Amino acid sequence: MGEKEGEKKYTIEDLPGVGEATAEKLRENGYDDLMTLAVASPKDLSEVCGIGEGAAIKIISAARKYADVGNFETGGEQILERRREIQKLTTGSKNLDGLLGGGLETQAITEFFGGEFGSGGKTQIMHQLAVNATMPKEKGGFDADVLIIDTENTFRPERIVQMARAKDLDSDNVLRRIHVARAYNSHHQILLAEKALEMAKEFPIRLLIVDSLTSHFRSEYMGRGGSLAERQQLLNRHMHDLLKFGTINNAVIAVTNQVSARPDVFFGDPMAPIGGNIVGHTATFRIYLRKAKGGKRIARLIDSPHLPEGETVIQVTEDGITDGGV
Ligand code: ADP
Ligand code: MG
Repeated sequence: MGEKEGEKKYTIEDLPGVGEATAEKLRENGYDDLMTLAVASPKDLSEVCGIGEGAAIKIISAARKYADVGNFETGGEQILERRREIQKLTTGSKNLDGLLGGGLETQAITEFFGGEFGSGGKTQIMHQLAVNATMPKEKGGFDADVLIIDTENTFRPERIVQMARAKDLDSDNVLRRIHVARAYNSHHQILLAEKALEMAKEFPIRLLIVDSLTSHFRSEYMGRGGSLAERQQLLNRHMHDLLKFGTINNAVIAVTNQVSARPDVFFGDPMAPIGGNIVGHTATFRIYLRKAKGGKRIARLIDSPHLPEGETVIQVTEDGITDGGV
């Protein structure tokens, strides 16, 4: 990937139809390199930069060519090559790793959803993933940094310390590698996901967590009849930003979501996670969590593109996420 030695190094000004003014607009909106443009959506690009969709398509295809990614004529080969780069992050539970075919995949979004507050262990799993991503590769980690977008103020460094110690890791070192940003509303959350791309240029971030993906969207738009479409559109864009981050950085994206308590407001199905189809279609892996006896949780894999559906048991303990015995 990238430019080969001896080849011309392209910049965004080399793209067709991109003069000084457009280049400036692109940069202002975070489209500051060929890779970012190569994975942009024509619609976003055209809206954000005030250019026609046709022009946006031309820019994106040229960026793909220059950045040497996603050449659709040899798409199958390229996708295969990208998939070969995919790595898997351990959850800490062999059961759950097994259900996921080895762990959480990079370049994909994995969504954990479940019922009422505190019942699912979703936030506990997010803490565990954060610790695990800092671990060396031989232990199922990425030896990498982590970015957490915390929307419910549930991040607890004390939990990180406990989980790190249980794995014989230096807890200060683990904490240093976990970057936490509190999101105060949905717009702030969207902005933080966009900023994440910039942060990844400074830190080797290979895990991006959004806990919770939907809580702000839900509370802000709840009962405001008529703005559902707007909410869905924002959420959709946010998901695509997250996926873009995962693709560019070969990172795992882990998000949490809550089962709706207001089926009348949210898409009719009482078991439907907030965000309905939009989240469902973008999330590549979805795990439904429910409480079982003795502090155990049943994790069920739903709608995976290439894994069989199934269930397993995990446990949330002081030491973190472990197997619950099947
Ligand atoms: P969710 O994010 O799905 O709402 P959480 O991840 O916050 O749920 O889960 C909270 C639960 O995790 C608690 O009810 C408790 O069962 C468990 N838990 C939290 N901290 C600890 C700990 N230190 N030791 C054991 N279990 C814990
Ligand atoms: Mg939580």
